[in-house]
Amino acid sequence: MSEAIQKPVDAKKIKEILKQKKGRMKVCLAACASCTLCAESCFLFMSNDKDPRYMPSYKVLNSLGKLYKKGGKVNRAQLEEMKELIWKNCVLCGRCYCPFGIDLPNMLAFARTILRSQGIYGIYPYTLGAPESEYRQDLGNHTLSPEGK
Ligand code: SF4
Ligand code: SF4
Repeated sequence: MSEAIQKPVDAKKIKEILKQKKGRMKVCLAACASCTLCAESCFLFMSNDKDPRYMPSYKVLNSLGKLYKKGGKVNRAQLEEMKELIWKNCVLCGRCYCPFGIDLPNMLAFARTILRSQGIYGIYPYTLGAPESEYRQDLGNHTLSPEGK
């Protein structure tokens, strides 16, 4: 186990980061109707026998959603579970589509940022796919072009 993994979770730091995008992220989380329409646009969901743990909305709600729900007060085991969802079960390809305008890849990228603040990183092969930095930070439309393009 690495030194970073043994460190206690800094809930204050998580809360600070959550606060930066609280308005937008909470609106998106609340808007999810759990309709599962986004699922079929995720190739990992489709290629893993439609395992719900690969469903885009499931990954968002059980990472970022959980972090907001608990106000950042999570333990390291919970963060490790989130790591599985947002790195192993998602390559951040940006293909998932929500007809209600919820920007799922942006939310997953934000969840990654929060985990990295606690010394939790995706490792090979988890890091396959586009880096989070390629995603624009604003929400509001579905164009997943890199910031400024
Ligand atoms: S993210 Fe959108 S498409 Fe996916 S379950 Fe929620 S409302 Fe439905
Ligand atoms: S960004 Fe992640 S959840 Fe969305 S389609 Fe790609 S692998 Fe699936």
